[in-house]
Amino acid sequence: MIEENVKRILEELPPGVELMAAAKARTPEEILQAVDSGVKIIGENYVQEALAAFQVVGPRVKWHFIGHLQKNKVKKAVEIFDMIETVDSAELAREIDKRCAQRNRIMPILIEINSGREPQKFGVLPEDAEELITDILLLQNIKIQGLMTMGPMFGDPEDARPYFIETRKTFEKLRSLALPGVEMKYLSMGMTNSYKVAVEEGANIVRIGTKIFGSRQ
Ligand SMILES: *Cc1c(COP(=O)(O)O)cnc(C)c1O
Repeated sequence: MIEENVKRILEELPPGVELMAAAKARTPEEILQAVDSGVKIIGENYVQEALAAFQVVGPRVKWHFIGHLQKNKVKKAVEIFDMIETVDSAELAREIDKRCAQRNRIMPILIEINSGREPQKFGVLPEDAEELITDILLLQNIKIQGLMTMGPMFGDPEDARPYFIETRKTFEKLRSLALPGVEMKYLSMGMTNSYKVAVEEGANIVRIGTKIFGSRQ
């Protein structure tokens, strides 16, 4: 089941688009199956859950953090993650930078954009991304590599398109600024319901849970 799902998705994704398996609430064994089927990036929302899965799967895939990262979890997070996709404040960026400096490593990060402008969601508004990036681009132990967005949830994925378009336009604008040390390389958008639309609008990382593992209990 997991194997067929992964293979089908990998076959249909255009070249240059990377598949992330969004693994929240899955067992390490399920994650391992996805990896054995060809998944190269695992996305985790919770540090504790990620640690358990990491024990089983190990560093042969890339581990991306995609949840809301609390400051007191950063120390643990920088031990296992290869990228943190959800940076939305200078305070969080500084904590990641500090903890990475202690471990003598550099953490690739994405800026999370609240493209739906939903008050209850995390992320910075599209127009505030430049200010946040300017604030943190001199930090030595993080490396800004692009943007991530969730966008509002809709039944019809077409309804998500405007939010992906706005995020991509923000991405392109930031890229055109050519800020020092800032690489606008990854655009992480789209989940099970919306990833095809997201890819049409420029996503090069798609985060898929349900379509790989089945519905969550
Ligand atoms: C759960 C989750 C996904 C995947 O959701 P599905 O609808 O199961 O594909 C993607 N991104 C984030 C940030 C998530 O929390």
